Amino acid sequence: KLHNQVEDAKGNIRVFCRCRPLSKLESSTGCSTVVDFDAASNGELGILNSGSTRKTFRFDRVFTPNDNQVDVFSQASPLVTSVLDGYNVCIFAYGQTGTGKTFTMEGIEGNRGVNYRTLEELFKITKERNDTFTYDISVSVLEVYNEQIRDLLTSSSSSSSKKLEIKQAAEGLHNIPGLVEAKVGNIQEVWNVLRAGSSARAVGSNNVNEHSSRSHCMLCIMVRAKNLINGECTKSKLWLVDLAGSERLAKTEAQGERLKEAQNINRSLSALGDVISALANKSSHIPYRNSKLTHLLQDSLGGDSKTLMFVQISPSEHDLSETLSSLNFATRVR
Ligand code: ADP
Ligand code: MG
Repeated sequence: KLHNQVEDAKGNIRVFCRCRPLSKLESSTGCSTVVDFDAASNGELGILNSGSTRKTFRFDRVFTPNDNQVDVFSQASPLVTSVLDGYNVCIFAYGQTGTGKTFTMEGIEGNRGVNYRTLEELFKITKERNDTFTYDISVSVLEVYNEQIRDLLTSSSSSSSKKLEIKQAAEGLHNIPGLVEAKVGNIQEVWNVLRAGSSARAVGSNNVNEHSSRSHCMLCIMVRAKNLINGECTKSKLWLVDLAGSERLAKTEAQGERLKEAQNINRSLSALGDVISALANKSSHIPYRNSKLTHLLQDSLGGDSKTLMFVQISPSEHDLSETLSSLNFATRVR
């Protein structure tokens, strides 16, 4: 494995901020924007707080509402090459519901996001390297809801499927015994797997959108590479995660099942923040075990693995307090 000292010096955590456009409804109701992108090309974002004060946030990159999926992926794609070079990688989207997490990761029909483009790029590079390497690529799709892991590719029904647990293997790597790993050889096969995952996600929930904003949707791509010249084998993992919405619960909703969901989301997102800031501060103890989310991602967070977080925000004045809370979360991990 090549060791890039320039990369090491900069650290292996990148934070990109992406702001969605105002929606049609927001525009038509004259909703104003609190985000200014004057210095976006320098990774700077301005938030206009009640007209008078301006708060500045710095990121590795800022994507404005005018930046499209191709612009975004072009900045994330070096990580794809890293995976094929044997590094573990984790890319995730954080933010309030409705800010474009799913748009960035999954994308929409005719305008695919990071997940699809990543797999497309993986297949493209493996083809280019096929006189030197053989690659085995497989995909798992799962969700974490109320601190329980659910396999979205298993054929058994959700009620009868056994509980999945994280185990640490002898080499120190983590795996989930029983989790389906679908071997994929081309982008069409990937497409079928992703579709199967999404429809499984809908099973057992009466409102799919609501459910998906309250669970973490996780795609794990396993790459096994064999160097045909020296016989060396590497195994690497790429996690692509669409996190549960980070918004705080309205007081009126603070009861029953909804409260439990909110507490679990809150706990796991805080755990994620704690892990990444511990890594950024080179702390001696990294608290991976505080949530299923961080425990699952353990091999791809820290060590020599590479992490990219998209902080998704809304430009609308109505979302200002959630926007500030997301930006503060992101600042904490830098
Ligand atoms: P989240 O997953 O964070 O809840 P979504 O990805 O569902 O948010 O986005 C909410 C809405 O905004 C969707 O209709 C989505 O298509 C749209 N949207 C989000 N980001 C963008 C963008 N950068 N450009 C255009 N539309 C966007
Ligand atoms: Mg979503």
